[in-house]
Amino acid sequence: MSKQPILFCDFDGTVTETDNIIAIMKKFNPPGWEAIKEDVLAQRRSIRSGVGEMFAMLSSSLKEDIVRFVLEHARLRSGFPEFVRFAQDNGIPLYIVSGGIDFFVHPMLEGLVDQANIYCNGSDFSGETIRILWPHACDESCQNDCGLCKPAILKQYPKERYHRIVIGDSITDLAAAKQADEVFARDFLVKKCEELAIAHTPFNTFYDIISSLEQKGVVA
Ligand SMILES: [Mg+2]
Ligand SMILES: [Zn+2]
Repeated sequence: MSKQPILFCDFDGTVTETDNIIAIMKKFNPPGWEAIKEDVLAQRRSIRSGVGEMFAMLSSSLKEDIVRFVLEHARLRSGFPEFVRFAQDNGIPLYIVSGGIDFFVHPMLEGLVDQANIYCNGSDFSGETIRILWPHACDESCQNDCGLCKPAILKQYPKERYHRIVIGDSITDLAAAKQADEVFARDFLVKKCEELAIAHTPFNTFYDIISSLEQKGVVA
């Protein structure tokens, strides 16, 4: 019996044109966030610790303003709604695997992707400042302190049963791309895949992914 194709798609910079956490920080500009961002990019501190601390500098009362800002400014990459339909029509499960936070990821995907198919971080607004929750943190096999651990999620879908297709754009997708059966990459992830000789298909829009999957006959 052939394997079930299954799609794992990153959110920030993949489903959306740009990174929403960076856009939120630029807009609401809590003092010191840029130094934290630099530390994360230079891998001097983990994503979980950096993202947690940046949001902890923002007042919980900003929740509605932040959601409105993201809904008004974030742009879906071309072809994403058609891609969701393509996956449905062909019986390919589509999971969004995002290091973003539920309070802006869910509203952006409202009416497109079921919440049950979204893996992302959580949030708590009951305190004075925003507290990020980590329901999908690393398991014992990952030391990266990812926050949302993409490799740990992929492991729940064993390669013996699934043809695992990973779609992403950046360093946070690399560990998942290494485990995947097929990779669609853009931006920084293309460079990393080339460097490490990971087989991948570059893409710009979701129409590119649809036609590539059609050509390869990847249907359930
Ligand atoms: Mg991304
Ligand atoms: Zn991890």
